[in-house]
Amino acid sequence: MRSVLVIFLALVAACLMVVRKLDKSAEASTPDVLGASGPEEAQEILKLVEVSYRILKSDEFANNFIKLETNNDVLYTRRGPIYMSPREVLESLRFDSLARPVPVKFVIVGQDRNSSDWYRAATSPGGYLTKHVRIYIGRGNLSEFDSADIVERSCAINTMAHELSHSVFLKDDPRQSVFTDTTPRDDGIGDNIKGAPIATYAIGTVAQCTYLQMEGRLRADEFLGCVEVFGIKSFHSPRCKEFSLGQPVVYSRSLSPPAPDV
Ligand SMILES: [Zn+2]
Repeated sequence: MRSVLVIFLALVAACLMVVRKLDKSAEASTPDVLGASGPEEAQEILKLVEVSYRILKSDEFANNFIKLETNNDVLYTRRGPIYMSPREVLESLRFDSLARPVPVKFVIVGQDRNSSDWYRAATSPGGYLTKHVRIYIGRGNLSEFDSADIVERSCAINTMAHELSHSVFLKDDPRQSVFTDTTPRDDGIGDNIKGAPIATYAIGTVAQCTYLQMEGRLRADEFLGCVEVFGIKSFHSPRCKEFSLGQPVVYSRSLSPPAPDV
């Protein structure tokens, strides 16, 4: 009986090694990026990731995120539904006793402008055994980050900060993000019965507006106006190209209509 157990354990160990190896062989030459056309494109997405992390960790981001309390008592975070104050969301984003980071791999998708995943942005579990998440980013988002217009660039930061927020997991549940979106048809994502702003969208938009402020494109007293432009219940992305003449990044009636709430 004991020898059967030993053989079984050896088989399990061998399978684990094969899975790890397969996972490794799928990686491009740059460790955390899959699907890049070459080293330059891999560097491009890593730069976007680096800038986004830098903003999320900054004091300026924290000070701005707390300003959401002016108009919002709570934000939707995940199935339950679980609501948190902006302050609590900020604490979890910075790994309080509830939350932990998981490793992230980035996958570049979207062959050309006509492909449906040109602007794709999504996060999904990378594998039960490897315990990482995969963030899929369309090349359209990378070309936004490459734009000469800083407001368009900031939209790529919104997208990446939103996706990075999905990589914060609950400490006591290895499969559960602290911050999910809210689409009841998807398994594992809950219904936002209060119709509150969504933490993931708030994190993205506050990161975007904080970037514009840090780069001198937005005054501190315009911050909440910028939040209104890009949204915290969804991302009003058609507006990304509507400030290229240097207009103040605050709401005006000439802007595209907001995206529907998610
Ligand atoms: Zn999301």
